[in-house]
Amino acid sequence: MTIQWFPGHMAKARRQITEKLKFIDVVIELVDARLPASSRNPMIDEIVSHKPRLLVLNKADMADETMTRKWLQYFEGKGFKAISINAQAGQGMKEIAAASKDLVKEKFDKLIAKGVKPRAVRALIVGIPNVGKSTLINKLAKKNIAKTGDRPGVTTAQQWIKVGKELELLDTPGVLWPKFEDQLVGQRLAATGAIKDSILNLQDVAVYALRFLAEHYPKQLQERFGLEFISEDIVELFDEIGKRRGCLMGGGMIDYDKTAELVLRELRAGKIGRFTFEDPELLEE
Ligand code: GDP
Repeated sequence: MTIQWFPGHMAKARRQITEKLKFIDVVIELVDARLPASSRNPMIDEIVSHKPRLLVLNKADMADETMTRKWLQYFEGKGFKAISINAQAGQGMKEIAAASKDLVKEKFDKLIAKGVKPRAVRALIVGIPNVGKSTLINKLAKKNIAKTGDRPGVTTAQQWIKVGKELELLDTPGVLWPKFEDQLVGQRLAATGAIKDSILNLQDVAVYALRFLAEHYPKQLQERFGLEFISEDIVELFDEIGKRRGCLMGGGMIDYDKTAELVLRELRAGKIGRFTFEDPELLEE
């Protein structure tokens, strides 16, 4: 999927989400647990400010568990309800329904007290490309997709997905754009595969990832590539990995493009172990 970040596309995405907000009670904002700051849309607070929001850190299976706990605390401290899940394995699905219900409890209780019949909580999933929106929707959907164009206030036919008795999801998620004017943000998004490889230089991205892993997760890096030590010289580190993995050109020279590709492929596949690029304590940096 290509990411469009032109003003026109942003405006369109924003309009589409705003349109959908009319039909829902809760916004489920999906972010990547490995980069919870960079995988958020910078304008999300503005776009969905008036709806209760559940922050969901997805791909928790690939993230550093200690950091995920820190991030959950951080978001809770900011007044968000936040949970971590693994959409691919379907872990945390019950928590999504429970937390969504919790977010509207007060409002619903008041309505029920006035005699309004209880109904399911309606939610919209939003997030940047590749964060796992479709995976989550499919996991929650099983086969409970219902066409309901006849609901009061619903003029266009909306597809709703029933999740148990208490939650209904709009079947198409709100797609947000990431912000990557900031080089670091771009490199983190690229390293995890959230943006297309053609957008950034692959070697730059691999250099960023290797430097980060060397500093924060040196053992994992050493283990994966069988390194005796981790050179502080990035070229030497590339050379070592390239040599060990046979990423060579004619004459036995290291093929840096191939090495970069290999490192990123393994990082994205989780083969270098769990990691989290961002620490909430260092957010201001
Ligand atoms: P979307 O663009 O937001 O709809 O993202 P997708 O649902 O297409 O997911 C993007 C990629 O992430 C796919 O390869 C999914 O299999 C993978 N993915 C989604 N959720 C998880 C998760 O919780 N853990 C892991 N490891 N991979 C996930």
